[in-house]
Order: sequence, then C-alpha cells, then structure tokens
Amino acid sequence: MLGKKRENGLIVKDMIDINIQSPEVQVARLEMMLEVSRAFNSTLNLNTLLSSIIEVATQLTDTGAGFVLLLARQEGDFYFEMTSGAAANQIEPSHVSFEESMAGWIVKNSETLVINDIQQEKRRFSEIEALPHLEVRSVLGVPLIAKEKTIGVIEVFNKHSNSGFTGDDIHTMNTLAAQAAAAIENARFIEQRDRLDMVFNELQSPMCSIVGSSQVMLANPDIDSKELRAGLELINSEATRMSQMVNDFLDLTKIETGRVQMEKQMVDLNALAQEVIDLFYPQALKKNLTLALNVERPIPPLSADPDRLKQVMVNLVDNAIKYNCKGGKVEIFLSCNQVRVQVSVHDTGKGIPPKELGVVFDKFYRRQDDEKVPQGAGLGLSITKKIIEAHNGDIWVQSEVGAGSTFTFSLPLLDNNK
Ligand code: ADP
Repeated sequence: MLGKKRENGLIVKDMIDINIQSPEVQVARLEMMLEVSRAFNSTLNLNTLLSSIIEVATQLTDTGAGFVLLLARQEGDFYFEMTSGAAANQIEPSHVSFEESMAGWIVKNSETLVINDIQQEKRRFSEIEALPHLEVRSVLGVPLIAKEKTIGVIEVFNKHSNSGFTGDDIHTMNTLAAQAAAAIENARFIEQRDRLDMVFNELQSPMCSIVGSSQVMLANPDIDSKELRAGLELINSEATRMSQMVNDFLDLTKIETGRVQMEKQMVDLNALAQEVIDLFYPQALKKNLTLALNVERPIPPLSADPDRLKQVMVNLVDNAIKYNCKGGKVEIFLSCNQVRVQVSVHDTGKGIPPKELGVVFDKFYRRQDDEKVPQGAGLGLSITKKIIEAHNGDIWVQSEVGAGSTFTFSLPLLDNNK
C-alpha cells in the first residue's frame, strides 16, 4: 500500500510510527551517517559507490536486497540506466518501465514509497514480476535528489523482521539518499572528467601530426608535388583516425551506459561469417593473406543482434589482417555444442606479449613498440567485448609472440532470448 500521510516532506504509511529516539541513539545515528558520508565521498568509482550505497542501505534497514536505479533522458523520454546491488544482477535497467514501476512512481512523485503488503501492489508495478529470483515481500524506496533534481531511486526489499518498515527506516533511507545523491553526482563528474582527459590525450597525437605536417608544408613555398602528396596523405590518415576515435568513443559510451539496445532476431552465424570473409577478401588478397572459414558443425540459428554481431566479427577479422605478416593466414572457426556457440578468429601475425594479454580489451590499448603497426583508435576490442557481454557471452584471447593470436567468443545457444 502506498503512503498517505505527509511527514517532513515524506509520504509515510498511516500506521507507521515515527519513533522518537533518545539523544544517545540520535547521536550514534549521526556519527554513523557522518562515517557513511565520508566513505561515500571518498569513493570516486561510480560502480563501487553504488555497491556500497546498497550495502549500507540494506544493512541499516535490515533488508535482504536492494538496488539503485539512475535516471537518464533520451529524446525527451526518461529511462533507467544503471542498477547495482544483489537484485540488480537479475534486472536490466532498460526493463524497468518508467511508467509502471515503483521506481518510476518514486521519481514522478519525488516521494518515499513504502509497501508492506506486496500482494496488493503486484499488478501495479511491473518490476516486482521482473525479479523472478527475488520473492518480493516488502519494499521501501526513496528518491535520490541532488541539487533539487531527482537523479534516481534507492529501493530495499524484504525487511527481515516481519513487522514491516518503520518510520526509523524511512528516516534513515532519506538521510542516506541525500548523502548518496551528492556522492553519485561527484563520482559522475569525476568519471566524466577522466573520460574527457583520456579522449583529449588520445586525440593529441594525431592532432600534433596534422599540425606539424601542415606547418612543414606551409613553411616550404617550393614544396614539390611528391612531398605535398605525402604530407596530405599523412594529414588525411590522421584526421580519419581522429574521426574514427570519436565515433568509436561515442559508440562505446552509448553501449556502456545502456543506451544501445541489442535488436535481437534469429541469426544464421554461418552465413554471417561467410559475409565477413567475402567483405575482407580484397584486403587479404592485397596483403597476400589466405582467408578461410572452417565450420566444424553448422551453427543452428541463434537469437542475436545481427548488425552488432557483424561488427564484432568485422573488428576481429580486420585486426587479424591488420596485425598479420605478409603471406600469412586468417581463419574463422565456428563450432558449437548443445548449449554454446564458439567463434574463433585465428591469425599468424606477430602476436601479443603475455604481459599485455590482460589489457588488450581495455579502452585505448594499442601496441606502442612497432611504428609500422597500423594506428587504430584502440577502442575496437573494448566495443567488441561490450557487445559480446550484452549477448551474455564471453570473449578471450590466446597469443604467442611470433606465432599469432586467436580471439574467441562464445555465446549461449539456448539462453539468449533475454
Ligand atoms: P585498434 O583500432 O588499434 O586496432 P583494437 O581495440 O581493435 O584497436 O585493438 C587494440 C590493440 O590490440 C591493437 O592496437 C593491437 O596492438 C592489438 N591487437 C588487436 N588484435 C590483434 C591481433 N590479431 N594481433 C596482434 N595484436 C592485436
């Protein structure tokens, strides 16, 4: 049941007592909140912060689970973009409807929601049903408000004692939410700043090449057409790299923040692999590379986003060609068992040193040691990994310096309809 009585800006259920605490208890609570506030403000990583908000919220309210949903806006519509906490593993933020959810109700009304009898509210709020692994019995949700703007919601589920949520719990959650909202805004600001720093740093090197090369050309009035062409080619390739970097970065940010939905449909992976082989045939020929598709057993159709899956395979084959040696080989292997599909892209290139294998999927990772290695944006593998993860899959790499690399991803065959 929703709250009816307004108390200090909170909506609370009629029968909830607002306990008057002794001064000692109030001081102890204040000290604890100060401690929590210090801990929140010193956590600058957003995911870590969200996890500790949930941990503290569930501990202080003596509840079994909880999550934080952050609000985002796209083309005028609100949606939730991030969840955290135990229950969050089973819920996609995009599946929490803004219109029908408890979280949406809290945001729209900017008020506390208390439900001690879930049976009556089940049909009203869609995310109760969307949490199949969590048998929801009771809920307490509060808005996260920073600088007078609602930025999301904290919800805790299933009070351990059967007495239901108390006025004390409501007070605690609202105090916690105020601290949490300020800390989330701070962490978001720092993440944003770090991201921009990273992008600017990465853009600096092609930008320096463009400026340097154009300055040399301008300073030489007698420049011959051969030098002019070489300078222009350099400028063109560096500007193309900058533009690819910006595009890839925007794409990665969209996927990371859940703003890209995987448009799943039944996909024939065998045909998709052949399409990618055909696409790269001219490029492979130019480098005198053999390009082959090995199908151990035809893959049955699977539910996936065909464009995104193609993007993954294009990126892996593109790399296998780019980082290969003349006269080498690139092979795609397809295999499957009853539950999983496995796709490997193998090359006979220079390989990746063991100490760098752990960071190849990191943003902006690029080998620095070989000037002749074609310069990319260093984001393709990060995007690839995010896409595979969005399909509930895994991706990994095996490599031997001087022998070649194999990038493999595996996708669930049966459980990919989510
Ligand atoms: P890029 O646009 O630079 O290719 P990626 O994220 O696709 O970005 O790859 C990151 C880095 O990983 C590359 O710059 C390269 O150093 C290394 N790498 C990727 N694939 C291979 C491969 N098949 N063989 C050797 N090195 C590779």
